[in-house]
Amino acid sequence: MKLSRRAFIEGAASLAAAGLLGSQVLADGEAPAAEGPGSAEGPGGEGDPGSAEGSGGGGPMMQSAGIEDPNWREAPNPDDFEIAGEYDCDVLVLGCGYAGSACMRKAAVMGKKVIGVDQQFEEFYNVFGGDVGIINSQVQKGFGIPEVDPVEYMNNWQMCCANRAEPDLLKYFAYHSGEAFDFYVEPIGEEGRAKLQPLTWEGIPEEWNSQLGAFHTYPGAISIKIYGSSQVPLDNIHDACDNYGAQMLWGHVAEVLLKDEEGRVTGAIVCNQDDDCYYKINASVGVVVGCGDFSANTTMFKELIPEIMESNPNTESPSGNGRTGMGQKLCYWAGGAFEIGPRAGMGGVSGNPMGVWQGTHILLLDKDGYRFCNEAFAHNFVAGIPAQRRESGLCSVWGSNFRDTVARMPVGHLNLGDFTQLEKDAAIFNADAEDSGPDGFTYGRTTVYCAHDLATLASYCGYEGEAAEQFVASVERYNELAAAGVDADYGKPSEVLFPIEPPYFAAYSGMGGGAGVLVTLAGMFTDRNCQVRAQKTFKPIPGLFAIGNCCGGRFPLQYTSPINGVSIAWAITSGYQAGEYLGSL
Ligand SMILES: Cc1cc2nc3c(=O)[nH]c(=O)nc-3n(C[C@H](O)[C@H](O)[C@H](O)COP(=O)(O)OP(=O)(O)OC[C@H]3O[C@@H](n4cnc5c(N)ncnc54)[C@H](O)[C@@H]3O)c2cc1C
Repeated sequence: MKLSRRAFIEGAASLAAAGLLGSQVLADGEAPAAEGPGSAEGPGGEGDPGSAEGSGGGGPMMQSAGIEDPNWREAPNPDDFEIAGEYDCDVLVLGCGYAGSACMRKAAVMGKKVIGVDQQFEEFYNVFGGDVGIINSQVQKGFGIPEVDPVEYMNNWQMCCANRAEPDLLKYFAYHSGEAFDFYVEPIGEEGRAKLQPLTWEGIPEEWNSQLGAFHTYPGAISIKIYGSSQVPLDNIHDACDNYGAQMLWGHVAEVLLKDEEGRVTGAIVCNQDDDCYYKINASVGVVVGCGDFSANTTMFKELIPEIMESNPNTESPSGNGRTGMGQKLCYWAGGAFEIGPRAGMGGVSGNPMGVWQGTHILLLDKDGYRFCNEAFAHNFVAGIPAQRRESGLCSVWGSNFRDTVARMPVGHLNLGDFTQLEKDAAIFNADAEDSGPDGFTYGRTTVYCAHDLATLASYCGYEGEAAEQFVASVERYNELAAAGVDADYGKPSEVLFPIEPPYFAAYSGMGGGAGVLVTLAGMFTDRNCQVRAQKTFKPIPGLFAIGNCCGGRFPLQYTSPINGVSIAWAITSGYQAGEYLGSL
């Protein structure tokens, strides 16, 4: 796609006006006000941009219009481009977001002549989000955040994704993500590092424990937002150029990869949006593709992510808030294989009932008043089939003793980013709380109801007849199980199974609807060095590497998130990993 600087500036202005340009606008933006009980777009719903990572479910309110791209599988012919000039390098990095900027600087520091290319112009450069879920970095150690056992981390990750993550990529992440992050924040200097902030660390309750049931989660992801999410990758690019001889081509769009007769990827053709001319870039060591995800490409989304599509049968034009899939197309056109399905997006299929404590594991009832799952399974996701009860939204129910349950909430995507909230909550949801009446009261973006008996609470929530009776029976049954200390019905861990004590509280937790995601997470099938495997043979294609959301094998089933911000953490780590490998050749 050609886009002049002028057109880009105008486009950027209109996107900014629509509140759709970039992480700061989205992540800090306000979600629409809560709808009433039973609404599919309930309070703080799936698309809640105020949550720790902006959003993870991506309900319709967050969905931006995607592009239709019916011919995306058809590769352009490199011979059709009129070439105005050529560049030479060792390592070519196409797309310099989180992953690309890390790759560019690592390969340059290791002595390679690197060219970075990004379609964005430097003055409008923007990446999404800024919470980074690495483990064992020096930065985290400096905050006193406990070390994580990489072996436990790997097994936990594989349990969350049914052992379908690429083990060597996971191993690299478990052992090197901290090192990659420390490298990545070097260029921001001491002053910059002083602005890094740990999430889910201040006020962490004494009773909090990494393990809940069979799963672990980890506190202390690092937010780079105060320093500036886009500034950190920019500082990496500048450092690579100013101190390690790299060259950056801003406002250049990668159009197609080049291959020699032996099938080796040897470079790319890019379009300079300033002069509208095409340039050939030759790379003697490798071409790394880091052009982000394909959530803004409706056609690719529909074809490549069947699970999200099948979970959302009424969604015709799925899209998210990320990129348009050019990276995956470049690799596919060069013969690269996609990772094996079902393939994940950040949300879209799992239910993320978002209430007062976001996705935490308080009691959930469906529209007929039935409990239906272990609310604490695999941390905050009520994953898979149970979550498809989204037709009506879900009702969360808790009592004045909420803290017993919530203080043990797993951390991660779509759970509380700040435990200090619990102190404020204790002043609201306590034994002295008064009946709210049928209008309830507003808590943040959530409408909460309070009553001193369950039948009244059910009626405030809009339950009638048999559903209201079932609502009461379900809470009573839950309380019996909790008193016995074993959830014989659904297997919720006993550490977070407490009888709900009056006064009772409830809120509708919208399940969103539609296949909206923040980004897609599916990419190319790669080997241990992020080298793209070929279609049919699955042999690594010489010279071709995929990083960040262009690299598959990281999130095979859903956005596995044992710590906040693990998507950016993987992006930075995979860029660093490919840069290190190419730097060593
Ligand atoms: C609103 C929002 C908030 C989020 N918050 C978080 C969070 O806090 N923590 C977290 O872990 N994840 C978060 N995510 C997800 C996260 O941002 C992405 O998963 C991550 O950015 C992926 O990094 P990447 O390097 O693969 O892609 P990107 O960071 O998207 O970088 C891709 C780059 O490629 C460039 N590009 C694309 N096509 C071309 C082309 N043809 N030629 C040249 N350049 C090209 C783009 O301009 C861009 O600079 C969020 C996502 C959204 C939408």
